[in-house]
Amino acid sequence: MAAAPALNPAVQDFVRAPFRKMLIDGKWVASASGKTFETVNPATGGALASVAEGDAEDVERAVRAARRAFDDGPWSRMSPGDRVKILLRTADLIEQNALELAQLETLDNGKSINESLNVDIPSAAGTFRYYAGWVDKSYGQTIPSDPSFFNFTLREPVGVCGQIIPWNFPLLMAAWKLGPALACGNTVVLKPAEQTPLTALRLGELLQEAGLPDGVLNIVPGYGPTAGGALVKHPAVDKIAFTGSTEVGKEIHRETAGTLKRVSLELGGKSPNIVFADADVEAAVQGALMGVFFNQGQVCCAGTRLFVEQKMHDEFADVLAKHAHEMPQGHGLDPATKVGPLVSKEQLDRVTDYLAIGKSEGAKAIAGGERNTAAGLADGYFVKPTVFTGVRNDMRIAQEEIFGPVVSVIPFKDESDAVLQGNNTFYGLAAGVWTKDVNKAHRVARAIRAGTLWVNCYNVFGASAPFGGYKQSGYGRELGSYSLDLYTQIKTVWMKLS
Ligand code: NAP
Ligand code: MG
Repeated sequence: MAAAPALNPAVQDFVRAPFRKMLIDGKWVASASGKTFETVNPATGGALASVAEGDAEDVERAVRAARRAFDDGPWSRMSPGDRVKILLRTADLIEQNALELAQLETLDNGKSINESLNVDIPSAAGTFRYYAGWVDKSYGQTIPSDPSFFNFTLREPVGVCGQIIPWNFPLLMAAWKLGPALACGNTVVLKPAEQTPLTALRLGELLQEAGLPDGVLNIVPGYGPTAGGALVKHPAVDKIAFTGSTEVGKEIHRETAGTLKRVSLELGGKSPNIVFADADVEAAVQGALMGVFFNQGQVCCAGTRLFVEQKMHDEFADVLAKHAHEMPQGHGLDPATKVGPLVSKEQLDRVTDYLAIGKSEGAKAIAGGERNTAAGLADGYFVKPTVFTGVRNDMRIAQEEIFGPVVSVIPFKDESDAVLQGNNTFYGLAAGVWTKDVNKAHRVARAIRAGTLWVNCYNVFGASAPFGGYKQSGYGRELGSYSLDLYTQIKTVWMKLS
């Protein structure tokens, strides 16, 4: 492995501060309780930085600030052109600080620096730039009506949005949430995941530098049940946007019934990736590897159920295992690393538990299947890229979300068997199909019940392409024009003409 590059001095300063403060009403403040928590570097298991720990009282202050900024403040009334400038400046600032943000992301989450620098950070900038474009292009309608009236609609912001995000793409998930919310004129209280609060806090500084008025964005790091729970229950919050586990999504669905706030949920997945024997096999192998080992498999749409046509199943699984075995694993800052550590000790335990469950169910790990405790990795949360064969679609490892670098290879007989098994899951986030037969590709794309379908590719995203779940993978579509529907509401105006 090559030597890790030196840390950007700004990153060193950022993590060395006594503790990182939270952003409320344009000011960086300690939590009301004075409490802090530590975020950990998953490559070493050591403490990385201390962060103010928000709870209900801080959420109260943040919601009040966001409410004021929405009801009285300049944001929703600012001219669209000025709002565009702030969002475009934010995109530019993310790019100007890309190396710093990438190193911070890699230290906090563990992901490889190549992914942080080439995927997460530019996609976050691109998301702000894309939504800047919508600010002045999102219209109401003029409605044909009786000539004694003038009837039209206004597309108005929803109000105060509580946004709760996970740890797998910390900055990018913040961008997916903030880009459309701010473009539509809302104000926000953002709660980053406790495991990875740092880049969201740095983004808060960049948005201030870009000219975002005080109170429009408030960032309250803290724990899910306390800070997140307070946001979900707060009567002055108009909307909750959540990305995370299906279990917490269901709790939010129940909790928000009391105030009937708008909710959008991006939840888990157990996505089928279906390889037909007539596929370009080398491309399918590479796609299957990337589909499940990208970001250490901590991807909601990961292709974790790899269905391979029976007649080439064994051969395909062997090639896959050989590649998985050879994937360079190491600290994220090492430029040679392809697979980094999992995000936390909790996630390490969860994934290694599933490895044991898989083996006890009768599956065979033909690559990996264990923690990686090689020299220099023993203190970090590393799990070897794992390929299971001998898996049936009804086993726990094929039905439950593992959220780690673990793929189950499952044989299928023919097209209808692939569709039947592929759809046999509570989830419906994404799916992949590999075939050279365009008719088959179209048929399977229509037959699979999932929010995104990739043909001869996997894990492809764009700010303009909607993303979200069928079934228990959630509801609402983020990205593209669809996100505007999550962050606006329609007012109908009737004017009597005389
Ligand atoms: P999680 O426990 O559901 O946490 C997600 C976020 O919700 C975190 O900020 C968490 O805070 C917060 N939270 C936890 N309990 C809460 C509660 N009772 N009320 C309000 N907020 C609460 O999920 P995770 O383990 O961090 O993330 C992995 C999961 O997210 C996977 O299941 C994955 O599939 C899903 N995911 C889905 C998508 C998608 O787009 N569909 C994308 C990424 C991830 P703390 O972390 O501080 O506890
Ligand atoms: Mg961390």
